[in-house]
Amino acid sequence: MNFYGNYITRLIEELSSLPSIGPKSAQRLAFYIIGMSQEKAESLANAIIEAKKNIKYCSVCCNLSDEDICPVCANSKRDHSTIMVVEDPRDMAAYEKTKEFKGVYHVLHGAISPMTGVGPNDIRIKELLDRIQKEPVNEIIIATNPNVEGEATAMYLSRLIKPLGIKVSRIANGVPVGGDLEYVDEVTLSRALEGRRQM
Ligand SMILES: [Zn+2]
Repeated sequence: MNFYGNYITRLIEELSSLPSIGPKSAQRLAFYIIGMSQEKAESLANAIIEAKKNIKYCSVCCNLSDEDICPVCANSKRDHSTIMVVEDPRDMAAYEKTKEFKGVYHVLHGAISPMTGVGPNDIRIKELLDRIQKEPVNEIIIATNPNVEGEATAMYLSRLIKPLGIKVSRIANGVPVGGDLEYVDEVTLSRALEGRRQM
């Protein structure tokens, strides 16, 4: 489909490689971008380049961060002995929006999924274990998604962490699924946190 010449065809191809962007949407976005002012288009392109170049992982919780240590981990007013384990930085952002949780986080960047070949070593579990051996921790709250992968990950973590004498709890069920925690409203998340049960 090279009706439009190489440049726009390439742009459409790049856009359609993004998740949930089909060929039609890619075409629509490409034409929208072509219609932008030069300045706007450059600003969009630079945002991608600069985010990719400068974003790091927090050396404590593995959250995405501009700094070596993210603002939550750097905040001495937070309760560093309570760690909420989430799958994704967006889940962390969703819990932060509730303003209910005063502890800190650990971001796994995924969940264990035998079906797709994601094992414990493919997500940030080792970092969590290293961390709880270095810092005094009272409670680990597992807030992985309530689907097969999230439950498998919760069980796996619980089995590793409980023998260390640390309380392990699981957020209440009923929070809808997967990477989509960010769309859950704040009241639901606060309830899920309050209603957590010891594993
Ligand atoms: Zn952090």
